[in-house]
Amino acid sequence: MKEMQEKILKDGKVISGGILKVGSFLNQQIDIDFLKRMGQEIARLYADEKVDKILTIEASGISIAVAAGMELGVPVVFAKKHLTSNVDGAFYSANVHSYTRDEDYSVVVSIDFLSPGERVLLVDDFLANGQALNGLLSLVKQAGAEAVGVAVAIEKCFQGGGDEIRERGIRVEALVAIESMSSEGIIFRSN
Ligand code: 5GP
Repeated sequence: MKEMQEKILKDGKVISGGILKVGSFLNQQIDIDFLKRMGQEIARLYADEKVDKILTIEASGISIAVAAGMELGVPVVFAKKHLTSNVDGAFYSANVHSYTRDEDYSVVVSIDFLSPGERVLLVDDFLANGQALNGLLSLVKQAGAEAVGVAVAIEKCFQGGGDEIRERGIRVEALVAIESMSSEGIIFRSN
């Protein structure tokens, strides 16, 4: 998405540890008109697939997943990062290492919200090493559901997580793919 490339160049900040801050339109403040267009683009990319449900991870994945869910007309489930009283009864869980915080956490979804045979589209804001999405893919597998594919706002290709998922035969779409970045500048992969 050319528009997101321009937004990243205008408002994004590359900080230490290879982290891109996009708080002005995605991670803290949300540009709702742009969010709608991100949802439309994800729906366009997966228009040829039957999608029953979207699965994302709290917190930053939720807005983009909801935007895509509204366009596709399907429910959105978000995995919780902690077992709270909102998740009662049996649940699926997977361990994830957080890239931005350098700590482990669990992703948890109640068994009520993922069912065998469901075709699930996975959505998140960033794809870096692939840990978060691999955790979600594990939940889909545990449920006996099927992963239709992955859609992320921003893939940082240089961290390799997206290609590892593709090598497993799972479709991965990124609205913007970053080949390399530093405080000197950002190079996008041309689609
Ligand atoms: P992964 O698990 O693929 O290594 O990292 C993906 C998760 O880490 C995303 O859910 C996202 O919240 C966070 N993340 C990874 N890289 C970045 C980044 O450069 N900027 C921001 N804002 N979040 C990131």
